[in-house]
Amino acid sequence: MKRYSLLVFIITSLFTGLQAQQASEKPKLVVGIIVDQMRQDYLYKFADRYGEGGFKRLMKEGFMMKNGHYNYIPTYTGPGHASVYTGTTPATHGVIANSWYVRSLNRSIYCAEDSTVYNIGGSLNAGKISPRNLLTTTITDELRFSTNKRSKVVGIAIKDRGASLPAGHLGDAYWFDSGTGEFMTSSYYMEDLPAWVKQFNEKQLAQQYLQNTWEPLYTVDSYVNSIDDNNEFEAPFIGKDTPTFPYELPSLMENNGGLGLIASTPFGNTLTLDFALAAIEGEGLGKGEETDFLAVSFSSPDYIGHRFGPTSIELEDNYLRLDQEFERFLKYLDEHYGKGNYLVFLSADHGVADVATYMESENVPAGNLNIGYVRGQLMGFANQSYGEGDWIENVSNEQIFLNHRLIREKGLELSKVQDDIANFVLRFKGVKEAYTAHSIKNAEFQTGRPHLLQMGYNHKASGDVLLVLEPAWLTGGARGTSHGTGFTYDTHVPILFFGWNVPAGSSSRYATVTDIAPTLSMMLQIRLPNGATGQPILEILE
Ligand SMILES: [Zn+2]
Repeated sequence: MKRYSLLVFIITSLFTGLQAQQASEKPKLVVGIIVDQMRQDYLYKFADRYGEGGFKRLMKEGFMMKNGHYNYIPTYTGPGHASVYTGTTPATHGVIANSWYVRSLNRSIYCAEDSTVYNIGGSLNAGKISPRNLLTTTITDELRFSTNKRSKVVGIAIKDRGASLPAGHLGDAYWFDSGTGEFMTSSYYMEDLPAWVKQFNEKQLAQQYLQNTWEPLYTVDSYVNSIDDNNEFEAPFIGKDTPTFPYELPSLMENNGGLGLIASTPFGNTLTLDFALAAIEGEGLGKGEETDFLAVSFSSPDYIGHRFGPTSIELEDNYLRLDQEFERFLKYLDEHYGKGNYLVFLSADHGVADVATYMESENVPAGNLNIGYVRGQLMGFANQSYGEGDWIENVSNEQIFLNHRLIREKGLELSKVQDDIANFVLRFKGVKEAYTAHSIKNAEFQTGRPHLLQMGYNHKASGDVLLVLEPAWLTGGARGTSHGTGFTYDTHVPILFFGWNVPAGSSSRYATVTDIAPTLSMMLQIRLPNGATGQPILEILE
């Protein structure tokens, strides 16, 4: 008996010793991947032609939270990136939309705008960018703080906000400049581009990729998961009559954003990954004593999704190609750090609605609300109710901003006017609910749409009346689609961890994207971002 126990002890010790040797004490590199507009179901929907080394490998070897959601309204790119990296929602981190109306300025500001900085590389007008509107720390900030800034952080994306918000206040960020085709940064980060960025830009890869014709990877007929290539739901590029393959990029460039056209093609993903790998080499990421962090966001799926919608062959082809890019990425990371020595997470900044006219064609209740018309009717109603005046200051992000000064001057009660307006807008088809700022400010909602609105609400900056449209309703036109709601097509996104200390598996428990950063805090043994409200995903940690 004794001898047996000893044997077990020896075997166990050997095994534990071996395990400790295999998994390093900390990961050399964390790679945060955001796919702009990626819905969770794309992991399954297009799986028949995914390879074994991309999405499927992440799912098979990693841990997937299958029921991961955004937990606030509005689900846009700026708030999405900020929420993943801060572990909290717009109510706390302050990025309440991509752009939002500021009463004191009497104009809208952009989430990553900063008039005090200027472009480093790239074009003048693309350089006024920094994370200063982000009010809390990110997981990348906390990694830098934890090592007295010996850890390096680099954020990369075609969209500036997809790079600067994830990189936090202490990291470096680079984004694509459609004017020059270069990756650039701003004086917030540095005074000169590093040599490796200059060398990358000299290759003029964007110009090269735009010599291509975007052909589908397989024959058009074989895309059985998508509707016919030619249909009335997709928005064609300017200068092309139909939304159909092939797309000859050189001839489309002039009328479709010049070099910026690359963002609306799968080559935008190729370019982004090329630059990410150049950053790894150029900065020596993961080669030092401390854990480094590469935050890379793939913006092109969003451009393609807006234009063609989730049922298009263009979108399916883009995901099949992105899958190939991910295989290239993971292979590279294996070769440079060794399997299990780097940590990856994959998520998205929001999902997307189906094209409203497509849903209608399939008899699903849907539609487009003409928000300009609603605004006009609102002005008429307010003039009739309170006398002639400029009562409606702004309508944006499905929020109505009332003229507070006028309301005060006329001796009206703000909450009463909010109630009147909220009740009035309910008469429009497509408007499901309207909440007043008064109600959002004076109660705490734990569930449902009021909770989602509250988690996206900033007491100092948000509007007076918040609209919720009916499911599947949008505010756009007949072709193309968008996102921004609290419905599942916009909230349900991948939450997937892979690599260092991550067990293989999955869970269908409800989780939120704000859980990603706290999970990383626990894994990396660093402080939580200072506004974090999410909770660590225990399934991955235990
Ligand atoms: Zn979008």
